[in-house]
Amino acid sequence: MKDLQPITLPGIDATKPLVIAGPCSAESREQVLCTAKELAANGIKIFRAGIWKPRTKPGGFEGVGAPGLEWLKEVKETTGMYTATEVATRQHVKEALAAGVDILWIGARTSANPFAMQEIADTLAEENASEAIVLVKNPVNPDLELWIGAMQRIYNAGVRRIGAIHRGFSTYGKHLYRNMPQWHIPIELRLRFPALPIIVDPSHIGGKRELIAPLSQQALDMGFNGLIIESHCSPDEAWSDAAQQVTPEILNFILNTLVVRDSHQTTENLTLLRQQIDRIDNELLEVLAKRMRVSREIGQFKKEHRMSVVQADRYNDVIRTRAKLGEEMGMSPEFMKTVLLAIHDESVRQQIEVLNDRVK
Ligand code: PEP
Ligand code: MN
Repeated sequence: MKDLQPITLPGIDATKPLVIAGPCSAESREQVLCTAKELAANGIKIFRAGIWKPRTKPGGFEGVGAPGLEWLKEVKETTGMYTATEVATRQHVKEALAAGVDILWIGARTSANPFAMQEIADTLAEENASEAIVLVKNPVNPDLELWIGAMQRIYNAGVRRIGAIHRGFSTYGKHLYRNMPQWHIPIELRLRFPALPIIVDPSHIGGKRELIAPLSQQALDMGFNGLIIESHCSPDEAWSDAAQQVTPEILNFILNTLVVRDSHQTTENLTLLRQQIDRIDNELLEVLAKRMRVSREIGQFKKEHRMSVVQADRYNDVIRTRAKLGEEMGMSPEFMKTVLLAIHDESVRQQIEVLNDRVK
């Protein structure tokens, strides 16, 4: 994806994060228009609404379908906002393009399916829609290559204004987040494709309205390029995703509290701090190497005394005491456990080398 183009739209300040807002689903003409008017009055310029809704189980509200496109047209005419909707099939793409929808997005269940992605890409090519703006949500599973592949299919259809939407990744069971943010995945995506705009969807990551503000701030702090947030004129009555929607007024309040960082500033102080980090990393590596040397000597001793490499009591003791110490020093127990287990794994690997005389 070499020559991606920025997603700029007349009337939208390209120096600010892109903000897209609107209900999870278009439910009725009244709900769409009332939400859109309130959003427009609060300065929102791009309106989102799902017309076709991919639901986990049959029998739920699966979207109003094509009639909703007429309501989006009306939103455009009456408020001047741009419009965005989700497409998942050939028919959706055709109908949305014909209705003049400005931005098409591809949902997380669709981007996980290469056949569906190819069908969408082929339709865009057939419709000569290289000028379209297409946003691709991450697949439900944390698979960066699948996400990139989905976008490459759209790119191969000639579309250059492509953006990624980070909406978090599914897991089993109840957690704080509805979908795990796993920020390192969109960060890796940005490193691989610096010209690709990445928009964060705090509504679907958090799954609850209280998490929209902190997740949005985190997204901006990490330098992502925009936000897509669900907003409904009566959130509690929403037909889908009620718990995570906010009124346009609350959305405006949230947006006003966000601090936009300047990603181009590198202050003198930061350079100094970064040099410190470089030095500390070197020290860390030296200490780790020293630990491994001692570990190999222990391996030698265990070999001579025919002891097994992993001594369970000692192992549990090391993890427990260090995790506690680390916590006292302000690090999370999860982090300490991950680091200690990784160090222990490497120690075991090195000792097994000693046992097998594979040491250089
Ligand atoms: C949505 O945006 O309403 C939606 C269905 O999202 P996702 O594909 O991220 O689940
Ligand atoms: Mn939703």
